[in-house]
Formats: sequence, C-alpha cells, structure tokens
Amino acid sequence: MYSDDKHSRDKLIGTQQQLVAKGLTSGTSGNVSVRTGTGMLITPTGVAADTLKAEHIVHMSLDGTIPAGQLSPSSEWQMHADVYLNKPREVTAVVHCHSPYATILACAHKPIPAQHYMVAAAGGYEIPLADYATFGSKALSEANLKALSNSSACLLANHGQLALGYDLESALRLAETVEEQAFWYWGVLAIGTPQVLQREQMDEVLTAFASYGQQ
Ligand SMILES: [Zn+2]
Repeated sequence: MYSDDKHSRDKLIGTQQQLVAKGLTSGTSGNVSVRTGTGMLITPTGVAADTLKAEHIVHMSLDGTIPAGQLSPSSEWQMHADVYLNKPREVTAVVHCHSPYATILACAHKPIPAQHYMVAAAGGYEIPLADYATFGSKALSEANLKALSNSSACLLANHGQLALGYDLESALRLAETVEEQAFWYWGVLAIGTPQVLQREQMDEVLTAFASYGQQ
C-alpha cells in the first residue's frame, strides 16, 4: 500500500521513466499506477516521462472521482482502477505499456504459450490475451479482468500489455518479463515451431516459484 506523499509520487515517476529507458514504451504512451489508502495515484495523460513532476501525478478515487486542481489522469485509468477493485489488496501496482514485441503478438492475437519456463512468472500456464475493446473503455477493462483471472499479466489485443505487482518494482519486472517472453516467442515463430512445455512440467515450475517467493 502506498500513500499520497512525495516519495510515492517520485517512485511512480521513476517507474514511468524506467519504462522509457528500458524501451518498453515511447512518447506519452504507457501508464503506471499504485494503490493508495483512498484510491490510486496514476500518471497523467499527455505528459512525457522526462518532464513529469510530482504535482503532475493524479490522486483519484477508484470510482473515477478526481478532486479538483489536478491534471487529467491517463485515458486508461479505468483498467487500473478495476484491477484494484477486483484483485486482492496485495496487488498495489499496475504497469501498462505498448512494448514492441508484446504488441506485435497482441496484434496477431497470439497469447504466449509456455515455450519457456519463465512464462510462469505471470502465475499461469501461458500469458493470456485479452479481447479487443476501445482504449480507455469499460469493455477493455472487463476484457482485461477476464484475462487476468489466473494471471498477473496479459496481452491486450491490438494494443499492448498489462502487468500487476506487489509493488512498482515487481510490476515493472513482470512487464519486462512479458516483453522478453514475447521477443522469444516471436523469434521461435520466425524460425520454427515452439516446443511448449507439458502441463506437469509447468506445475513443477509454478510450485517452485510459489516457494521461492514473489516471482
Ligand atoms: Zn495503451
């Protein structure tokens, strides 16, 4: 749980800047949020990461109420809010971006199978694909929640990816893992046929991850 203080706002800005530095997003796309005691802190719409200041970060209720005197939140605030409304309290950070390889697969409507054991980092047997809906819409948020029912990350059809975490660091790390997995899947599709791990093999990985800690 984060609070609405300068430190939390700075951490949010740092994460948004990391998205750009790591090549996971560019321009003003990509948005980051954290759960607070009374709602969430989220990056504003239309402000480039390198010009973000603490006062630009928007503190809003999960029902969409925005106290006056703030910038407009990311146009994709609904899907962040609905994650906090529907996922356990321990889920306190959400990262959304249009990272290149994840977006390529999302545009081809290809969820990422367990061709590599680290797919289990998202908590399941694949990294699922959420159905397409218009950006910023309630329908998109609902499609994401469906895809996230057994996963901490998903691809968004014709759009990008979404990753959840227990803090900003873990959400960002998972977004990076999704992008890495997407790159590898894209590469394997280019040269041959993915050899997908058996369900029992993935069960072993998932069990090991559960005892290893917060993967
Ligand atoms: Zn987006």
